[in-house]
Amino acid sequence: MRTKLIIFILIILTVVGVAAFLVPIRNIFLSGLVATRTDKNSFEEKREQILSELHLAIEEAEEIGKYKCCIEPLCTMCYLGDWIWKDGTCDCDGLIARGEWDRVCPQCQRGIEEGRCKSEIGTCSVQ
Ligand SMILES: [Zn+2]
Ligand SMILES: [Zn+2]
Repeated sequence: MRTKLIIFILIILTVVGVAAFLVPIRNIFLSGLVATRTDKNSFEEKREQILSELHLAIEEAEEIGKYKCCIEPLCTMCYLGDWIWKDGTCDCDGLIARGEWDRVCPQCQRGIEEGRCKSEIGTCSVQ
């Protein structure tokens, strides 16, 4: 009878011990999942924030006449300096007006192909 009681207590202790050992592991695992989810969210949030600031800056440049893009929504490539223009300017529309289609930035070319041309001074050729 006594041995049975001792075995019973030992079993209980083992179960409690294993549980106590597993709980932190489970928490680490769960916090890992939460962290991954938060990282993903913060990436999306960061991306949204950067893009909206970028679009605001481009709109401002357009308002003061520095950004003469030919598509709607405006390209971002020229503002970032990834094409022939400097200091956040764009004159793809000027190129279109002169018929220099091949010098328009790739983003604008794609926009034109997608039918997003909004040029008022030139006509976008569909290539
Ligand atoms: Zn453009
Ligand atoms: Zn452009």
